[in-house]
This record gives sequence, C-alpha cells and structure tokens, in this order.
Amino acid sequence: MNTAVAPKVQVPDVAGQITYAMRSMGVAPIPRNYELFYEAYIGSNPALTRDLAALGSQATQAELDALGAQHCAHTAPAKIFDDAHSRIAGELEGLLRVLRQEQTSLESYNRLLNETCKRISSKSTTSADLIENAIDLLTQATGDTITHGEKTVEDMVQRSQEMDQVRKELDEYKRIANTDSLTRLSNRRAFDDRLAAVFNNPALRPVTALLLADIDNFKKINDTYGHPVGDKVLATVASVIRTNVRRDVFVARTGGEEFALIIDGNTLEEVTVIAERIRRTLESTPFKNSRTRVDYGPVTVSIGVCMASHAGDAGDLYSKSDIALYSAKNAGRNCTVVYEEGMQKEFSKSWLIYKS
Ligand code: GH3
Ligand code: MG
Ligand code: MG
Repeated sequence: MNTAVAPKVQVPDVAGQITYAMRSMGVAPIPRNYELFYEAYIGSNPALTRDLAALGSQATQAELDALGAQHCAHTAPAKIFDDAHSRIAGELEGLLRVLRQEQTSLESYNRLLNETCKRISSKSTTSADLIENAIDLLTQATGDTITHGEKTVEDMVQRSQEMDQVRKELDEYKRIANTDSLTRLSNRRAFDDRLAAVFNNPALRPVTALLLADIDNFKKINDTYGHPVGDKVLATVASVIRTNVRRDVFVARTGGEEFALIIDGNTLEEVTVIAERIRRTLESTPFKNSRTRVDYGPVTVSIGVCMASHAGDAGDLYSKSDIALYSAKNAGRNCTVVYEEGMQKEFSKSWLIYKS
C-alpha cells in the first residue's frame, strides 16, 4: 500500500511539451535541438513537423542536424531565435521554480514520514497483534513512500540541472548572436535593440546621447598593410574606446569601421568631453607591430554626437548623429561635431564644435 500522494507538478505548455518530447526521444538538450523542436512544435513548417515525427525515437544527432539544415538554417532569422529564446527561457524559469518547490515539499514530507515511522517502530511490542500488523503495514508503506519520494527528488534534481544547463546554453547562444566576433563589442543587432529601448522608456530619452565614431581613412590602412592588419587596428580601436568609457556605456561596432556609443545620464557638454577623450586617446595611441615595429598609425576617428531629446525616434537619432559625423569628416576629420537643428549633409564651419 502506498499512502503518499506526491503534489502534482504543473508542466508549462511549450517548454514542457518540448522538453518531454526531447527527453522521450533521447535527444540532447542543446540549443539547435530546441530550435528544431520549437519550430516543429509551433507548426511553422509542416514538412519539418512531419519529417521529425518520421525520425521516431531512434533519431541520431546527425539526422537531427540534417533536418535543421534543411528546414531551419535558412528560414529561421535571428528574431525567431530571440522570440524562442525568451519564451523558452521564461517557461523554463517557471518550470524550474515549480520543480524547486516540489523538491522542497517532498524533502520535508519525507522528513515527516521518517519521523513518524521512527515513532511507530519504537512503540512497545506488547500491543495487540492487530495493532502490531497495522504498524508493520504502515511502516512498510512509509518505507515505500520514502523510497519513491527520494527517487522523485533525484529525478527532479537531475531535470533541474539539465534545464539550468539548457538555459546557460541559450543565454550563451544569445550572447554570441549579439556580439561582434572581431572586436567582442555588441553588434549592430544588439545596438538596434538598445537604441529602440531608449525610445520605449520615457525616463531614458531626455538623458541619452548617441555618439558615432568612424575611423578616418581606414581604407588606406587596409590598402597599405593588408586586411589582417586592418582587423587588428579595428580590434585595438574597439578596446581603446571600451576602456575609456564607464562600464554602463553601451558600445557597439555598427558597421565596418564605425562604432556607436549610447551614453545615459550625461548632459551634452559631458558627452562631448567623453567624445573628445576617446578621440584624443586614439590619436595618441601607438599602432605598432610588436615584432617588426612597423608603425600603422596615426589612427584617428571622427565623431558625431546627438542627444535623443533632439530626435523623434531611433532612426531619426541615428540619422542625426550620422549627419554630425559627416560634418566632422568634411571639417577635415579627427574632430567631434554635435548635431544642430537644420544641419544637413553639407558642411558649414560654424558647426565644428570641438577640435584640439
Ligand atoms: P573616411 O575617413 O571617409 O571614413 O574614409 P574610410 O577609408 O575610413 O572609409 P571608406 O568607407 O572609404 O572605407 C572603409 C573601409 O573599411 C572599406 C572596407 O574595406 C573596410 N572594412 C570594412 N569592414 C572591415 C573589416 O571587418 N576588416 C577590415 N580589415 N576592413 C574592413
Ligand atoms: Mg572611415
Ligand atoms: Mg565608415
């Protein structure tokens, strides 16, 4: 007789279905498998759902990868991954919470049963046979329940660890999707999201500035020393920018040799000081080959600045910072220009604000 009834685990819809389907097919809980099962689950591609079902429970990783290449690789844009990531991550979070509560509740239930069992076992054997049998039965049932409960806890701990692992892998996948591999800065995609967020938060807009920095005559460095040297220069410029601003400043490589900084909490005057610090630091940074001592420098940047409060939306802010940057280029490069109302893509000397 088993008298213990384990509390019912509520399995969230999407993550639960996907996780259990993968487990029952013996599929490894890695991001690309989740992506495959997620696509099959939401039915966005009926052929994928059909082919995955046809693989059955003996599917190998190679067969799953072939399915992924056929159905997902070219059709799943980063946005779909992002949506899947946040939905699955959210569902997993919920499931983990339930599992942790379940684990705690079963552990305390087991403790209680253990204590009761000990109390019954320690009763005097001078009681009537009937009571003695009942105690034996109850002791047996309690023992079974404890064993069952321990197995459940073990299973949940294992599932919980597996899902923690999946969440870490998904987070890492997302980090890679938002990172520029050459400079390790955020990439254009992450920048677009971050800039959009500025205009979705009324508190941020009045105190946010966008700063665009573009390397001057970078093509010449590539042409003179080769593309690999150009790549090294890009990485060094990225690192100089990153180390010359606060940690909370968002720094991205938004294009070939263009960098963008989103700075919160500073006045325009303070932002121009930051811009000038970056520009001067780069100007005086040696760009030398450590072995041959060949000097690739000087490497300079032109900078355009605009406050978010001067723009209607993210696209407008980017375009106005870009107009300021264009003015800086026209002013002879290696300088900082702040956007002003009426400024066009033609240069006027009066707009040149900073150059030491
Ligand atoms: P300006 O001062 O007007 O900005 O001139 P520029 O030469 O810097 O600008 P231009 O747009 O003429 O050239 C940019 C060059 O950057 C051309 C392209 O080959 C190079 N580039 C873009 N991405 C990369 C990259 O990832 N690595 C390297 N090495 N070069 C790149
Ligand atoms: Mg350039
Ligand atoms: Mg450029």
